[in-house]
Amino acid sequence: MKLAGVELVRVEVPFLVDIETAAGAHRTRSLLFVRVVSVEGEGWGECAALSQGTSVDPTVDEVEDAAAGRGVARLIEASAARGGHLPAEAEVAQLFGSSPVDRMLAAVFEMATSDAELRQSGRSLAAALGTGVGYQSMPVGAAVGIPGDRDVARLRDGVDAVVAQGVARVRLKIEPGWVIEPVRAVRDDHPELVIQVDANGSFRSDDAAGLERLAEWNVLCIEQPLPPADLVAHAELARCLSVPICLDESLSSPRRVLDAIRNESCQVACLKPGRLGGVRATRLAHAACAQAGVSVFVGGFFEAGLGRSSNLALAARLSEDAPGLVGDLSDPATYLSVDPCGFPRVHGGWVRVPDQPGVGPSPDEVTLGDLNARRRWFPATYT
Ligand SMILES: [Mg+2]
Repeated sequence: MKLAGVELVRVEVPFLVDIETAAGAHRTRSLLFVRVVSVEGEGWGECAALSQGTSVDPTVDEVEDAAAGRGVARLIEASAARGGHLPAEAEVAQLFGSSPVDRMLAAVFEMATSDAELRQSGRSLAAALGTGVGYQSMPVGAAVGIPGDRDVARLRDGVDAVVAQGVARVRLKIEPGWVIEPVRAVRDDHPELVIQVDANGSFRSDDAAGLERLAEWNVLCIEQPLPPADLVAHAELARCLSVPICLDESLSSPRRVLDAIRNESCQVACLKPGRLGGVRATRLAHAACAQAGVSVFVGGFFEAGLGRSSNLALAARLSEDAPGLVGDLSDPATYLSVDPCGFPRVHGGWVRVPDQPGVGPSPDEVTLGDLNARRRWFPATYT
């Protein structure tokens, strides 16, 4: 495919309800799309970065600056080296380094190139990944944040709402002082519901006794209890607790996934393709987890429909390789005021993996206009 240029498209979409976590509140989802345009057709990628970064994840502004700089330049240089032809999807992530910004760039440029290739060949991402019979639908999980005023009644309403949609499991955000009361309330309301909790790194090792109490309410796992850098402290905590530990922010690269496995820091891994560097990087990390007996689920960054469709197809393929836990695959319409892309409808807690050509639904041009998208075009000029 002959590369004509690359466009960066940025829109701001308010969340339906502020998303409160121990790491801060999210009010607006800044969406960054990369559009790769070739003579034969185009492809879209969606960046996972949020408006606010964390100790391990860059902000969308940082990724957009880098995309406008070395991101676009490397794709154009790689195309120039191939006589103007876009590199194959399998080659794109390797154009980038190992920094957090570079892994986000790798993921979004890989997605855009993959989308262009798949549309050109008339194949879906699920088909390209070799997803087989029996994995055309996936169960959907949801995350419920901390009510701003720690109002248990509001939390219960929030959980009731996602349970009414049929979600197979709920991840409750917790933080010091907001552990027992919310979990007990939700367990009382929903005796059969699969409950996970996510602390976003807000506890310390000496909180172990309090966290162990979660076993009383049959919590599936405790996600990221301690700050992300310390894999050894997580390993020590895992030996003290009967509730399995899941890591999320700690798994900031495929290499870190291997380190966590070697240290026995977790029994469950939340793998986020945007953070790890794309679909291929996530499959490598998943293979290592499967071999070590670490259960995996595909985590989300409150994506729009394109990014979430990519995660959906990947989750289907991974669950075929090794049974995992329910991923963050809920419909973006349940948390974004507008989803410029759209997503398959969720029926009874299950969603069908897209089988149309491409990675997923690309953003709607009219919706992008209504949202006053900021668009920058970078023509592929070869000297
Ligand atoms: Mg998490």
